[in-house]
Amino acid sequence: MAYGNLANCSRCDALFVKGMREVCPKCYQEIEKEYDKCARFLRKRENRGATIYQLSEETGVSVKQITKFIREGRISVSSNPNLGYPCENCNTPITSGNICDNCSRELRREIIQQLDVDQRLADEEKRVNNAGYKRKAHKEE
Ligand SMILES: [Zn+2]
Ligand SMILES: [Zn+2]
Repeated sequence: MAYGNLANCSRCDALFVKGMREVCPKCYQEIEKEYDKCARFLRKRENRGATIYQLSEETGVSVKQITKFIREGRISVSSNPNLGYPCENCNTPITSGNICDNCSRELRREIIQQLDVDQRLADEEKRVNNAGYKRKAHKEE
C-alpha cells in the first residue's frame, strides 16, 4: 500500500488509507448512524420546527456534525425552517456559508477599510519617493 494514501482521520485522528473520504471507516459508520438518528427525528411532523440545538439534544449528535449535514445538503433546511446552524462569528442561526449576513457585511467593510489604508500607505510612499526632501516643506496631514 502506498505511503501517500495514508491520512489522519479528521474526526478521531486515527491513521487510515485515504480514499474518497476525510474520515476513517469506523467514523464513517458512526457518522452514518448519527445521520440516521437526525433523519429519523426530523421525519416526524412534530419535529419539523426543531432548532439545531433541540436536534442535537434529542439525538446526541453534536451541533458541529449536524452543521456538516446541513452544509452537505443531507439535511434540508427548506423542510426544517428553524434548523439554521450558528454563524462562526456571532452564533446567529444561518442556513448557508460560514457566517451570517451581518458578519459578512462587517467583514467586507473591514477588508475595504484595510484596502483603503494599504492604498493610502502606498500613495504616501510614492509621494515621499517622488517629492524627496521637498516633502518636508509641506504640513503634515
Ligand atoms: Zn476516525
Ligand atoms: Zn454573525
